[in-house]
Amino acid sequence: MGKKSQITYWCHEIIRAQAARGGIYIDATMGKGNDTLLLCELAGDAGKVIAFDIQKMALEETEKLLKKENKIEQMGERVRLIQASHQYMDQYVNPESVDVICFNFGYLPGGDHRISTKADTSIEAIGKGLELLKSGGMMSLCIYSGGDTGFEEKERILAYLKTLHPREYTVICNYYFNRENHPPIPVFIFKS
Ligand code: SAM
Repeated sequence: MGKKSQITYWCHEIIRAQAARGGIYIDATMGKGNDTLLLCELAGDAGKVIAFDIQKMALEETEKLLKKENKIEQMGERVRLIQASHQYMDQYVNPESVDVICFNFGYLPGGDHRISTKADTSIEAIGKGLELLKSGGMMSLCIYSGGDTGFEEKERILAYLKTLHPREYTVICNYYFNRENHPPIPVFIFKS
C-alpha cells in the first residue's frame, strides 16, 4: 500500500498544514523518532523539541535518526530526548507554552510488544498535554487497537476525549472507513 494509506503520513500532513513554526513541540512517544524529526523541522532555527519514551532503545534509535538528518548538530540543546514516562511532561515546560504535542500510542515497532502505552498513563498524559498547549496549539494522536494492543486503551481514550468541552477544544476524530481489522484512528485536537 502507498504512503497515503499510512496513518503517520496523514498525521504529518495535518500537523505541517496547521502548526506554527519556531515554537515549542513535544513528542510524547518517541519510538523510532519519526515524529521527533518532523517536530525538529517545525522548530527550525529557533524552536525547541522535547521527546519522551520509557525505553532506552527508543532514545538510541531517535538519536541515530536525528544525527543522520543533521538535527542534533543544527539544534544542539534545543532538542532533548528524555527517558521518562509522558505523564511527567509538565515537569519540563510551562503551561500554555506548547505549539504541538504528538502521541503515537502502542509499542515500539521491532521491539518488545509488552512495553506499550497504557490507558491510565496515556489519559493522564493527554490531560497534562492539553494544559501545556497554548491557545491555537494542537495535539495529534494515533490510536491503535486489536492484536497485542487490545481495545481498552482505545475505548478509554475516546471516552475521555468525548468529555472535553467543545468551547475549549475542537476534537476531530477520523476513520479509515473501508478498512477491516481495527485500523488505527487519527485524532486531532485544536485548543481554542
Ligand atoms: N512516534 C514513534 C515513531 O515515530 O517511530 C512511534 C511510537 S511507538 C508506536 C510507541 C512508543 O511509546 C514506544 O516506543 C514505547 O516505548 C513508548 N511508550 C510506551 N509507554 C510510554 C510512556 N508511558 N511514556 C512515553 N513513551 C511510552
